[in-house]
This record gives sequence, structure tokens and C-alpha cells, in this order.
Amino acid sequence: MSINPSLLAELRRVVGPQGYLDQAADVEPYLVDHRKLYRGATPLVLRPDSTEQVSAIMRLCNEARVGVVPVGGNTSYCGGATPSEDGSQIVLSLARMRRVRSVDPLNYTMIAEAGCVLAEVQAAAASADRLFPMSLGSEGSCQLGGNLSTNAGGTAVLRYGMMRDLILGLEVVLPDGRVLDGLKPLRKDNTGYDLRDLFMGAEGTLGVITAAACKLFSRPASSVTALVGITDPKHAVSLLSRLRSFTGDAVSTFELIPRLALELVLEFVPNTANPLDGRHDWYVLLEIGMGRQDESLRGAIEAELANALEEGQIVDAAIAASESQREMFWRLRETIPEAQRRIGASIKHDVSVTTSELPQFIIEASQLVRSISPTGRIVSYGHLGDGNLHFNVSRPVDQDDESFLRLAPNINRAVHDLIARYGGSISAEHGIGRLKREELVRYKQPVALDVMRAIKQALDPNGIMNPGKVL
Ligand SMILES: Cc1cc2nc3c(=O)[nH]c(=O)nc-3n(C[C@H](O)[C@H](O)[C@H](O)COP(=O)(O)OP(=O)(O)OC[C@H]3O[C@@H](n4cnc5c(N)ncnc54)[C@H](O)[C@@H]3O)c2cc1C
Repeated sequence: MSINPSLLAELRRVVGPQGYLDQAADVEPYLVDHRKLYRGATPLVLRPDSTEQVSAIMRLCNEARVGVVPVGGNTSYCGGATPSEDGSQIVLSLARMRRVRSVDPLNYTMIAEAGCVLAEVQAAAASADRLFPMSLGSEGSCQLGGNLSTNAGGTAVLRYGMMRDLILGLEVVLPDGRVLDGLKPLRKDNTGYDLRDLFMGAEGTLGVITAAACKLFSRPASSVTALVGITDPKHAVSLLSRLRSFTGDAVSTFELIPRLALELVLEFVPNTANPLDGRHDWYVLLEIGMGRQDESLRGAIEAELANALEEGQIVDAAIAASESQREMFWRLRETIPEAQRRIGASIKHDVSVTTSELPQFIIEASQLVRSISPTGRIVSYGHLGDGNLHFNVSRPVDQDDESFLRLAPNINRAVHDLIARYGGSISAEHGIGRLKREELVRYKQPVALDVMRAIKQALDPNGIMNPGKVL
């Protein structure tokens, strides 16, 4: 189904010569998702530079019933920002809307546009001596709008929460072009329904987010980063509880890393080294930050880890001695996806259960996977402090990608059915996009789905916002 050429011409006129791409080579990066699972087509990528332009685009597309696919950094893991194959949808990139409109250090808030790269938002906060704590492996390319629309998680959720917890208000262009101006940087505003939360995690299916009022925090004046060796994830859970109590909830990162993941990183990622002498079945990367300059923090954490060692809770630990060592510790965690890609196709799950049940879940899920793929290589790592695991299975050494991926439906069913028995979530932080639409129907409560469909119908009766995603 092709789009009327006069509409395309009108859309080009709205954004001006700098505001669109329509040559095959320029459009190409917008046609494929990050994991290369989907390939779409589009005649036009629009790159507006103001809310007014977004509003005009939406009004025109709504009148013509043409689908609009918003895209940020295109780092989504579930095909959320890829247009359909038939070329009937317009892609709307927010990349030119990347202004930090204001920073108010006394109110601990910042207003930034949706196209700001996450690292730029972090830097703008830091230059006002504040912290914007959202942090992901993709922070150099993902955008604030994408983070908001996926309700991103990342490595500091334990202390600061997910994206939803970091936002006070949003500016959104509705599918009919009206602008919902909710950019008040207020911490208290009980004037009816919380419209802001509707658009966060909606993956572009309800409107286009153009700007956000973000919460800022004090920057930790001192912090300790450690890599700890353990024998069993259940010890990781009890260590987390111990350190939360010991520090008064100052643990910001607590990431579980299995031995295989660390070995893959050491083999495939340059400039990495294991700071621990021995090899262990499991590792934890943890970070603790304190508000005041505290020279004794490192000593106190060291002593507490020594107590944990004596009691058999951990088997080894190394504390980063410098900023460059800290960065190396982080690289061991953040490059796991890259290292895992090097050993062939993998079947991925982004699941959550309660933190306390997570060790038992790993045991049961691993048994189920082994009953389907006895030599599949399980790499289950992630945000243990949030009960969130990336429970991934890479193909066996002696199997080809294609025949391994044929097992995906069986493995997914086994893992997701187990998640349902635990009362967990089949998508903890990556969203639904196109990849998990059927899974959503299978696992989400029917009443919740009805409410979601009613909201979609109310806001987007013509179904033009990111058609074919989520619902
Ligand atoms: C190396 C790596 C590490 C990652 N680590 C994490 C992690 O720890 N935690 C985590 O949660 N995710 C993680 N991700 C996934 C991904 O980075 C996040 O989902 C991120 O929030 C997506 O942002 P983006 O700008 O790339 O969005 P895109 O991929 O461009 O879009 C994502 C969705 O949001 C919609 N959208 C984008 N912008 C807007 C807008 N302005 N208005 C309305 N809808 C919009 C799109 O239509 C799409 O549905 C990781 C990805 C990579 C590659």
C-alpha cells in the first residue's frame, strides 16, 4: 500500500529540506531493528526540529490515516521502532529535537527534549553538579524519548527506580496533532488521572513524546565498585540484603554475572581482565555510593565483604582502586551482549520474578532449557537487585544457528510458562514491540488487556500510532 505522493510532498514541506530523508541509502538504517530480526520499508523518514512540526505531521497523517512509527536511537530489543514491510508507514525520528531546555539545580529538575541522547542528558545534569541516574549499555546512542517510551530500566534501578520513577511530566503530541503540555516540574500534583504514566512504556502507540521534565539527584561524592566471586545466586541475594542494611540502601548496582558470560567477555572484548585470581561459578558487580565525601567508605565496605568471606557468603572480592579500574569492572558487565553475539544465535528472555525467588527460578528454568537443548549454552545475567534476569541461551558449539533457532518456540514457551507460575513478568524492561505481541495476549490478564485496548481506542481511534506494535 503506497502513501499518496501529495501527502509526502506536504510532509516534506512541513519539515523543510533539512528535516527529511528519502534516498535509499539514508533511509536504510531506519529499516532494520537493532537485533536484525525485522526489516521494514518506508518512503520517508521525517526529522522535525520542533514540537510544532511534530504536531503538523501528526495532524496530516491522522487525516490521511497513515501510520507513524516514532524512532529514537533504534536500540530496542523487540522491533518496536521498525516500520512494516509494505511501505505504508512514515518513520518519525526525534534526533533533531535534542535541546536541554532548562536545568534547575535547586528544584533538582531538568527539562530536555526527546531526541537528546541519554549520555547527553547525564552530562547536562553533571555540569550542574547533579545526577540523572538512568544508565544503560546503550546510553551513547539511545534517546530520552526511546527510554521514556520503553520505560527503560538499566543498572541503577535498585536505588533510583525505572524511567517512570525519574520523570515528573511530559510534553506529548497526540495522534490528532494536539499537544498535551504536562511539562510541570512539580513533585506534587494530584489533579486527576496520571496522564504521564500512560505514555511511558507505551512504545509509541499512544502519542509522540517530545520533551520531559526529569528528576535529578545529588551526585554521590564517594563510591565503591566491587567484583565479587560467589558459588550460588542464593548467596548473591543474601549478600545484597546484607549490604542494603549495612549501607542504609546505598547500593545502586547489583548485577549477576555467570562464569560463562565473564569468560566470553575476557575472550572477545579487548582491554578486559579478570581482577579476581580464581575462577568462580558466579560473580556480582556491585556499586555503592555515598552523598558525602567519605574516605572511610572503601574501608568499611572492605571490612563487610571480609565478614561475608569469613561466613562463606562470598569466595573472593576485588574493589576498584582507581577510576580506570572501575571502568574496566563495568566493561565486564556491559559488554556481555556484545560478547555473547560472538558465539552465534541466541534465544533471549527478559524476565522478572521477586529477587528472593530468583535463584530457584534460575535452577528450574535451566533444567527446562536443558530438556529441550541439552548442550545449549545458558548465559543468565542481569539486574539481580531488581529480580530481572536476561535469561539467554546461545546455540551449542556444534549446532548451526538456523536449526537452533527452530527450538525458540519450545524454549520460549517453557521459560514463559515457568515465569507465569512464579507470577513474574515476560518483559521486565525491554517492552513488547513486535516481538512479544502474541506472548502478551497469552500472559497478560484479559481485564488488563481490555483496559489497554480501551485506552488505545480513546487516544488513537484511527490506529495510526506505531501500528502493529504492543497490541
Ligand atoms: C547494549 C544494549 C544494552 C541495553 N541495556 C538495556 C538495559 O539495561 N535496560 C533496558 O531497559 N534496555 C536496555 N537496552 C534496550 C534499549 O536500549 C532500551 O529499550 C532504550 O530505552 C531504547 O531507546 P531508543 O532511543 O533506542 O528507542 P528506539 O529503539 O528507537 O524505540 C523504542 C520504542 O520507543 C518508541 N519511541 C522512540 N522514541 C519515541 C518518542 N519520542 N515518542 C514515542 N515513542 C517513541 C519507538 O517507536 C519504539 O517502540 C539495551 C540495548 C542495547 C543495545
